Amino acid sequence: MLLMIITASGTLALSVGWVARSKDKEGLYTWTAALSLQTLGFVLLSLRYQIPDFFSILVANTALSASRSLFIAAIAQFQQRRIPSVLFWGPPLVLAFTFSWLMHDFAARVVVSGVINIFQVLMALIILMSREYAITGRGKHLMVCGLGIMVATLTVRTLSMVMLPDTTLSMMEQNPVQALAFLVAFGSLILVSNGFVLMSKERADEHIRLIAMKDRLTGTWNRIRLEEAALMEMARLDRYGHPVSLIMADIDHFKEINDHFGHATGDQILKEFCAVTQSCIRTTDLLGRWGGEEFLVLLPNSGFSSTARIAERIRSTLEQYELAEGLRITASFGFAVCQSTDTWDSWLDRADKALYRAKSAGRNRVETESLQPDANTADHPDTHLVPLVWRKAYASDNGHIDTQHRALFENVNTLLNSIKDNRPKQELAQLIGALVAEIRQHFEEEEQLFRAAEYPDSERHCELHHHLVTRGIQLTERFEKGQVGAGELFHYLAYEVVAQHMLIEDRKFFSLPATLSI
Ligand code: GH3
Ligand code: MG
Ligand code: MG
Repeated sequence: MLLMIITASGTLALSVGWVARSKDKEGLYTWTAALSLQTLGFVLLSLRYQIPDFFSILVANTALSASRSLFIAAIAQFQQRRIPSVLFWGPPLVLAFTFSWLMHDFAARVVVSGVINIFQVLMALIILMSREYAITGRGKHLMVCGLGIMVATLTVRTLSMVMLPDTTLSMMEQNPVQALAFLVAFGSLILVSNGFVLMSKERADEHIRLIAMKDRLTGTWNRIRLEEAALMEMARLDRYGHPVSLIMADIDHFKEINDHFGHATGDQILKEFCAVTQSCIRTTDLLGRWGGEEFLVLLPNSGFSSTARIAERIRSTLEQYELAEGLRITASFGFAVCQSTDTWDSWLDRADKALYRAKSAGRNRVETESLQPDANTADHPDTHLVPLVWRKAYASDNGHIDTQHRALFENVNTLLNSIKDNRPKQELAQLIGALVAEIRQHFEEEEQLFRAAEYPDSERHCELHHHLVTRGIQLTERFEKGQVGAGELFHYLAYEVVAQHMLIEDRKFFSLPATLSI
């Protein structure tokens, strides 16, 4: 049995040492040293009666206790902290001193070594459990399990020596109880060691996962994470009608900063730009570096006016902010609210085009779609429950289409009032159904106009109609089943159909005045 433990301990020392070669920081080398010292301790123990007692008792037990100190140190190292020297040196020294007095009292030795061992294993357990990691995975659980078993076995063995001194046997004597004790020791050794290696592997995996999603210079998210989060938000928009927006920012004349002040200052400014931006957005918004000096902010649950406000807030904060070396910078911003007809590429493209417009219009400004963003767009159909206001500027040169557009505005507002008055669901569902049918009818008439005029973008526009009608029908069904709220449906009607479609897409055909502002 002792040979089995020696073999296991030695093999584990070799294998952990081998793993530690590639990553030293997590205390794996210390763990290897602990296993090696433990192997030495067990070898000396096994040579009882063949070598002097001084080595097989005193040195062997001191080595075992010192190996436990090393195990504790390794755990602390993994947690990037140090243990007090008294905790490290105390137990093996106390054990060595006491044993030198108790060389001929086996029972007393078992009790002393038992108490010291229990103390050390308990320490390991406490240190291990006292810190919460971001990743509390299976590795830690294995270790807690192994250490717990060790404490239990040692306690039973020590207590039995105190209470029944005649029945406890020396390490070298064979009987079923002793065999069981060895087996448990063997099992817990494997559990604890595997747990420790697994813990460092879990940490390394997490580290790699984060590195893979973060930008090295600024510490903000990178393209991979941004895209992943954006797709998730698009799915939420599709499923629940939650609006989501994207701000694309690009630092103005950044090349000149690099040219005048050097690349290192440029890097510092990129970091500061991120810090300023981060301070202007909500914790649920995601800031990421899209490349070079271009950044994206993904804003879940944000429609037109809140996104316009946040972009403007970043712009003005940055403009007033004094950066490293007393420098000041500005940036240009383009934003786009996701439409249910968007793909990730088309959404990004609209934000990019808006940014381009901001650059062409003189930089240090916020632009969006083909509309002028206005931070005070209180009457803009943003996220929820703001009435639509018809303005002269929305009129096209087609009276019939205008009448339909106006009727849509009115009916959407009637729905809004019914939602606000908490009208019964049945009544809301009827209003919504009637609105979707009205939209469908309106789209059909528009399509006839396109055909008559041989409008070149007709096919794409009709596809948008089809998508919006299908979505309207789906949302109505989900509303009836209680899967989405009236607010989401209102957002679909007011924002997707009226603001995005009628006032942006339709405008391309009816060529409304370029100064349109909503
Ligand atoms: P504009 O106002 O039109 O955006 O002008 P700009 O000079 O900011 O734009 P341009 O795209 O011409 O230049 C971007 C510069 O950003 C060029 C490149 O050297 C610099 N850059 C890109 N990535 C980094 C980086 O990681 N660190 C530093 N210091 N500079 C970078
Ligand atoms: Mg650029
Ligand atoms: Mg730039």
